Amino acid sequence: MPELPEVETVVRTLRTLVLNKKIERVSVLLPRIIRRPADVEQFKSILVGQTIHAVERRAKFIKFILDQDVLISHLRMEGRYGVYQSSEEIEKHTHVIFHFTDGTELRYRDVRQFGTMDVIPLGKEQEVEPLKKLGPEPLDEAFTPTLLSSMLQRKTTKIKPLLLNQEFMVGLGNIYVDEALFRANIHPERVANTLTNQQIEILHTSIVQTLQEAIDAGGSSIKSYVNGQGEMGMFQQVLKVYGKKGELCPSCSTEIVKIVVGGRGTHFCPSCQK
Ligand SMILES: [Zn+2]
Repeated sequence: MPELPEVETVVRTLRTLVLNKKIERVSVLLPRIIRRPADVEQFKSILVGQTIHAVERRAKFIKFILDQDVLISHLRMEGRYGVYQSSEEIEKHTHVIFHFTDGTELRYRDVRQFGTMDVIPLGKEQEVEPLKKLGPEPLDEAFTPTLLSSMLQRKTTKIKPLLLNQEFMVGLGNIYVDEALFRANIHPERVANTLTNQQIEILHTSIVQTLQEAIDAGGSSIKSYVNGQGEMGMFQQVLKVYGKKGELCPSCSTEIVKIVVGGRGTHFCPSCQK
């Protein structure tokens, strides 16, 4: 499953590939990818004639900003986009094709078929699913240590499941939450509202830096063909605890352990994160 840094990399790459392109027609080869409008013919006809003015990210959703509407796409497990000439052969597992007026096409492939697309009128996208209930973006300027501190007040759950809850805050998946808690020297089972102000400040910095460094690592290898997972190997370079069970902590040389917290495999250093 791609996490925020991977989706951000996909969004930045898409920006270089599809900005200002006008949709001439849309092919939907697998209707189940389309959630809204429920009528696939309507989905196609709404998009025809609209130009992509911006590509943005909200949580792990990709937003294509059009003239009248927003196309909201989630890659789920294995969704991926590629831009092709219309003459190029259509690969297996291609489910949706946006044909542009310049003879190129944006193709959506998804082996697992879990990805989704919603078209919402521009300006209404925050008021309805799927973006409605999402918490703050960790890389927004508005996400400050003070905001995080107020968010943690009265939260008596363990910190890791709380940080994974997208209604609490978006963008942290299982990998980067372990990395951020390691950097902040916080045990993943620590009760959220018992963190000190100093720990909250360090946690805030850790979350932002962990995500930013992963984005920087991904951003250095932008290619003309993008996917949400192909660059995972590169992101692994910045990982210090995730997937490192039995290896030595880079800070104190204690063995990294793996436990289950809130149903999720969790890696941490028992010495650094007491
Ligand atoms: Zn350690």
